[in-house]
Amino acid sequence: MNFQEILNEQKEFFNSQKTKNVKFRKRALQQLKEAILKNEDLMYEAIYKDFGKSKFDTFTTEISFVLKEIEFYLKNLTSLSSPKKVRTNLANQLGSSKIYSEPLGNTLVIGAWNYPYQLSLSPLIAAVAAGNTCILKPSEVAENSMKAMAKIINENFPREYLFAVEGGVEEITGILELKFDKIFFTGSTKVGKIVYEAAAKNLTPVTLELGGKSPAIVAASANLEVAARRIVWGKFLNAGQTCVAPDYILVDERVKDSLVTSLKKYIQKFSYKADSEQYTQIINEKNFERLIKMIDPENVFYGGNFDAKKRFIEPTILQNVTWEDSVMQEEIFGPILPVLTYKNFNEALLQISKHEKPLAAYLFTNNSEEKDLFTSRISFGGGCINDVVMHLSNDHLPFGGVGNSGIGNYHGKFGFDTFSHQKAILERATWGEPELKYPPYSEKKLSWIKRIL
Ligand code: NAD
Repeated sequence: MNFQEILNEQKEFFNSQKTKNVKFRKRALQQLKEAILKNEDLMYEAIYKDFGKSKFDTFTTEISFVLKEIEFYLKNLTSLSSPKKVRTNLANQLGSSKIYSEPLGNTLVIGAWNYPYQLSLSPLIAAVAAGNTCILKPSEVAENSMKAMAKIINENFPREYLFAVEGGVEEITGILELKFDKIFFTGSTKVGKIVYEAAAKNLTPVTLELGGKSPAIVAASANLEVAARRIVWGKFLNAGQTCVAPDYILVDERVKDSLVTSLKKYIQKFSYKADSEQYTQIINEKNFERLIKMIDPENVFYGGNFDAKKRFIEPTILQNVTWEDSVMQEEIFGPILPVLTYKNFNEALLQISKHEKPLAAYLFTNNSEEKDLFTSRISFGGGCINDVVMHLSNDHLPFGGVGNSGIGNYHGKFGFDTFSHQKAILERATWGEPELKYPPYSEKKLSWIKRIL
């Protein structure tokens, strides 16, 4: 497939000015919503084939999410895209100042496999809302979901506006050589660096939504039942294959035994079994093999069983884990939960800040001083106090990483801004202007200017 040709068509289409019309964008969003609803069953079937993800989880964590983003823009697009009047300083009187959000142009969105619909379609929706064209490259690892998205996009939109690529590393490597006005990437830090390097050659702005090891700290004052229930849900959702899942627990040593007992209770209550509605398969053999190597039988407090044929790994809690263990050397991205202990809260924060900045961090506590220390001392993309994962479901909050976990953010208004350029316009009146700035200069003019500036 000739991707340069498709991009050329998209450049021409963008230059036709059609996508700048807010009504056109709203119609496109509405059309996408209808296409998703029409193909909802296909989407459920495809993702189930890819990694056994249930209809319940697919609706709650993917389809409802994408539809909510569309609704947000349908409701707010007129105000988001209107010029914003701002104050004008004294030196520019008589004048008025406005900020215009203009689309960046021709965009490329690269998705990850773990929430294939949400992570590909949400950025595409933001790109459309902001008035761009888009080439979408979903992850080939969730192959059936990729095909479902390609069908939805390519059957409902002309390729000079929106186009979804079915392909893998070879295709994306070729596409990355082209000159886009914006690249939005979700995936690993390793591939994020490849994308960043390719983008730099064309000075293309990027948003990188990456990963990392996200801690959940459980302090002595925490409500341990609530902490255990929420951590178990957030960790084992999608069998731990969630970028913002708690990667590991750091718990005050005084409450560690009670916490792990409660964790075990909720794992059993939630009934995570192979082939069950509430549990997902590991995406492929490669990841399955990588994960089971992380289970040190000596440290297993709960779980540890697996079934290679079904790519099933039981929710597993590891205890007596240290920072030097292999499970602490890379993002886990699977249903294995190491528990580390701390004696002193500040020391726990210090340990986290000695490592790369995580995408998310969570704290369970009732102590307001600890809440302040957590939010002010350690750097991470975003997170929750007394919950996990849910911050990304609030579209009034930006979602993104920092440092090794990413660059930039999206969701709601932030997605619109990510795909827009803020153009500054000062309009001056053609009368009422003092002579002050014009030559010939004089001491008197300078003294007036000093007062004004
Ligand atoms: P990945 O980096 O392997 O793949 C992501 C995308 O990059 C895919 O579309 C893939 O086709 C493409 N790709 C792969 N190799 C490439 C190459 N050499 N050059 C160019 N493109 C290439 O990531 P993944 O396995 O799909 O996802 C897992 C990782 O993504 C985890 O680290 C996870 O934390 C992170 N993640 C982050 C978020 C977030 O929102 N921040 C969301 C989901 C996943």
